[in-house]
Amino acid sequence: MRKVSVFGATGSIGESTFDLLMGQGGAEAYDVVALSGGRNVARLAEQARALKADIAVTAFEDSLPALREALAGSGVEAAAGAQALIEAAHRPADWIMSGIVGAAGLAPGFAALSQGTTLALANKESLVTAGPLLMAEARAHGATILPVDSEHSAIFQGLVGEEIGAVERVIITASGGAFRDWPLERLAQATVAEASSHPNWNMGQRITIDSASMFNKTLEVIEAKEFFGFTPGQIEVLVHPQSIVHSIVGFRDGALMAHLGVPDMRHAIGYALNWPDRQKLPVARLDLAAIGSLEFRAPDTERFPALRLAREVMETGGLSGTVFNAAKEIALDLFIAGRIGFLQMAALVEAVLEDMSKGQGLGIAAVDLDMVLDCDAEARARALVISEQGRI
Ligand code: NAD
Ligand code: MG
Repeated sequence: MRKVSVFGATGSIGESTFDLLMGQGGAEAYDVVALSGGRNVARLAEQARALKADIAVTAFEDSLPALREALAGSGVEAAAGAQALIEAAHRPADWIMSGIVGAAGLAPGFAALSQGTTLALANKESLVTAGPLLMAEARAHGATILPVDSEHSAIFQGLVGEEIGAVERVIITASGGAFRDWPLERLAQATVAEASSHPNWNMGQRITIDSASMFNKTLEVIEAKEFFGFTPGQIEVLVHPQSIVHSIVGFRDGALMAHLGVPDMRHAIGYALNWPDRQKLPVARLDLAAIGSLEFRAPDTERFPALRLAREVMETGGLSGTVFNAAKEIALDLFIAGRIGFLQMAALVEAVLEDMSKGQGLGIAAVDLDMVLDCDAEARARALVISEQGRI
């Protein structure tokens, strides 16, 4: 039986993964090794019982007693904390979902790759934060990374049987998020509740707000550079409000190969789960005649400065992705906490990038994970200082 683990099992990606695993035979078809979650230990325990997991891990040590209690009599081991997540990721498995949100997914992802497994990567932050190291780790251990972000899964599928050298460009589609049609003046007043509802996709709160600010697209552009090795000039962003075309690969003969489907992450997760095969998936089928027409427009970098920052980060390379992601995570925390406004998120990220590029600059490549984590911590601290000083 195939051994699988799911990190971030209780989140939006994790629940979709759980749903697919259950639909494809559950504990009878898979030998489930580890499931991880956060504070929602009741749900984590429920999933672990249903899939007969060996171990359930909560990210937070103070949640361990509650997890133990919820697992009583199940035979599922309970553990907690960042180190326990890493240990669980070292447990042999053939397929591991990296579905934790934020840079917290980095260390478990590295641990998983070190066992030469197949890593289904939803955690885009780890590629933005430490792309070259992550890809090198995969190569060094003969591990396979399969992209789960819908755009990257679309591009990956568009490349099957193709030579990467024949690619002229990739077009990453963007729904435009909750505020796609809002004027700049109104964006300044946008509330957390308004930013937390996505027109097409049902996702975790953090990525939903990142979609509204277009930071999600910035992360994805950098993710495409790091994962596929495209040059910044090859990567385009195209607003497509319907989220039906998930991305497009353009070849040197001018042909464009697009991936179409309903906006349901079980498409991309299911592809990664069954790769290189395709299995029947429980997703709705597209009715193109009912849709009638597909809409596309150019992105607006004035209203969404995050898109401009993507270019800067890609041109600089090195540690700028680490700083960018860390500052963005803090900016998002501060926005959710009501401490900064919607537009101040991009202003804060830009200020941290500027601050930290003084001196040596950010173009130096990280030599190891510790260097990345140090830089990540420094960027978070600087972001807090800059915001407290009211410099944005
Ligand atoms: P989510 O917030 O719904 O779930 C996050 C999961 O991570 C939960 O299980 C949570 O308990 C766990 N978690 C939170 N903080 C943690 C920490 N500090 N340490 C360990 N675990 C922690 O998030 P999501 O929307 O499922 O997104 C997960 C990842 O997938 C993100 O990187 C996101 O960008 C990416 N992604 C999500 C979608 C989507 O449709 N939701 C699409 C593409 C990519
Ligand atoms: Mg995406």
